[in-house]
Amino acid sequence: MSKKASFVEIDENTEIKPSKAFSKYARVSSMAQYKRMHAESIEKPHLFWAREAKELKWQKKWDKVLNWEAPYAEWFKGGKLNVCENAVDRHVEEGRGNKAAIIWEGEPGDKRILTYQQLQREVCRMANVLTNQGVKPKDCVLIYMPMVPEATIAMLACARIGAVHSIVFGGFSSESIKDRLEDSKAVAVITADGSWRRGSVVPLKDNMDEALKGNKDVKSVIVLKRCENDVKMKKGRDFWWHKQTAKVPAKHTPKGFSAEHPLFILYTSGSTGKPKGILHTSGGYMVGTYTTCKYIFDMQEDDVYWCTADVGWITGHSYITYGPLLNGVTQIMYEGGPNYPDWGRFWSIIEEYGVTIFYTAPTAIRAFIKAGDEFVDKYDLSSLRLLGTVGEPINPAAWAWYYNKIGGGRCPIVDTWWQTETGAIMISPLPGCTPIKPGTATLPFFGVDAAILDEEGNECKPDQPGRLVIRKPWPSMLRTIYGDKKRYKDTYWSDYDGMYTAGDGAKKDKKGNVYIIGRLDDVLNVSGHRLGTAEIESALVAHPAVAEAAVIGKPHEIKGESIVCFVTLKGDYKETDELKTELRNHIGKVIGAIAKPDAIHFAPAGLPKTRSGKIMRRLLKELVNTGKVTGNVTTLEDSKVIDALEKSLKG
Ligand code: ATP
Ligand code: MG
Repeated sequence: MSKKASFVEIDENTEIKPSKAFSKYARVSSMAQYKRMHAESIEKPHLFWAREAKELKWQKKWDKVLNWEAPYAEWFKGGKLNVCENAVDRHVEEGRGNKAAIIWEGEPGDKRILTYQQLQREVCRMANVLTNQGVKPKDCVLIYMPMVPEATIAMLACARIGAVHSIVFGGFSSESIKDRLEDSKAVAVITADGSWRRGSVVPLKDNMDEALKGNKDVKSVIVLKRCENDVKMKKGRDFWWHKQTAKVPAKHTPKGFSAEHPLFILYTSGSTGKPKGILHTSGGYMVGTYTTCKYIFDMQEDDVYWCTADVGWITGHSYITYGPLLNGVTQIMYEGGPNYPDWGRFWSIIEEYGVTIFYTAPTAIRAFIKAGDEFVDKYDLSSLRLLGTVGEPINPAAWAWYYNKIGGGRCPIVDTWWQTETGAIMISPLPGCTPIKPGTATLPFFGVDAAILDEEGNECKPDQPGRLVIRKPWPSMLRTIYGDKKRYKDTYWSDYDGMYTAGDGAKKDKKGNVYIIGRLDDVLNVSGHRLGTAEIESALVAHPAVAEAAVIGKPHEIKGESIVCFVTLKGDYKETDELKTELRNHIGKVIGAIAKPDAIHFAPAGLPKTRSGKIMRRLLKELVNTGKVTGNVTTLEDSKVIDALEKSLKG
């Protein structure tokens, strides 16, 4: 394959077909093949999914592929399997024992490689430790860890013994841990003394101690030594990871659990409100993450894959721990911040390890653009062959930069739309066949029957915005909101009979490409016109002065809603009234006069975001409408941002 970088002129109408060089070796190499497989997956899901599932190891084969009584699905009913055995032991048995499973780099620069066989030994040890601590199948184990291989080992050890893991992102506070401990009734905790973040230590164990005050459910706390910071160990409850694992054998026989055995609980990011505890189960989730990695990331035996998410998010669950390991691929894991010691860290990692597949988020891409090209230019990124993005709509300007600057004008971009609830990617190009276009996640994956409906339940015409729904069950779908069946039904299954509503607004073009235009709660209605936040934000980001933008609606007597924008500028630009006028006119030119905002505010301290980097428009809305923020902010990245905005709105 040609590694030469080239520059491609890109605007939002640019369509790029996969190169012959890529298609030749890809898993799906023509649109005809995609269409044939997609049709089969929808019309005969039992045939399609049975064939995929057979590539994995089942201790007992299923009796029935799908049992569906909306909104409750059972996939691979009667089957017995162990997800951990599939992600680890299977590869050792198949001769990949000495292949690198995880190549890890710590923030301070320390390095480690774990082969599949070493991973197996570590996972077996932890499985034995948990069993010795009295953890039983279906018990919940809360994991609060840095991005170190032990985080993955802890997850896999839980899966191996049939315990249910619930990960709390290492950047969250005691308060968030406390809520999740209460909600999940965890009986054990796995954590670390501390975690490195931009050169300083986050005291994980101290946070955990605070969260555990008054808790009666948790019987043991296992603590990994990472930063060597001082911690208090409570006798009889707290145990060091290294001491416990040294005492137990590195062998453990994986028992088969039923396909619907719970695998994990994970809370959503909280972009729209209080996080929901999403429950995923074993068989369907395993098949879903395995299959999406295989086809969408086109994982091949010699790939070096890197997903920059944290294991605390669904992306880290499905596309760091489970999907890649189920595919037996070699992956990179990085502990720290993208700007430590400077904004070149990611690119230095790609160069050093020859990363071939790279998966990140639009928020990171926008931050790299703001930091400046000089950090990228120093490194050789020619090993890359495929790029991915997830988490928010990607603005076409950011897409173009990613394609040219990082991908060298040579790598397809898979813009993957999915949710904590969906477990695996739902809408995405297949890199060997789907023509890609900035701003669209393109077409549904196999087994996904995605439609866009109006309020009456009619399918929208091309380019008409509506609600994104999934009309058929899929293997990796959520099974419930933990402990709250009613909320599960009400939130996802009550808008249209028997269909899953995603909560996102979207439209399709004539070719069926899906454009996510924003959250349903965020879609604006200006003088009867439905405008997506993504569209206006993308127009702003396309202006050379703008690094990042958030758009919200404010009630307006005549228009229904008026448009309010928050904008962060790139380094050299000054916050002036002239620039505001220029930006207003720019939006008018790109979208139309109807989209011209009534107000533009500069946000030099940044926009409010979730810890996973998503813009929290609901907080901006509240701020604009009431002058302050009282809503749920437990997942907010940096509360100083809100204080700064409050001040600037008053001033
Ligand atoms: P909450 O449900 O608590 O508000 P959240 O929806 O942010 O939080 P996640 O499950 O992490 O929690 O995120 C899923 C959402 O992210 C999607 O519903 C969608 O709005 C957005 N999203 C994810 N990927 C994409 C993408 N490729 N394009 C556009 N939007 C995306
Ligand atoms: Mg959501």
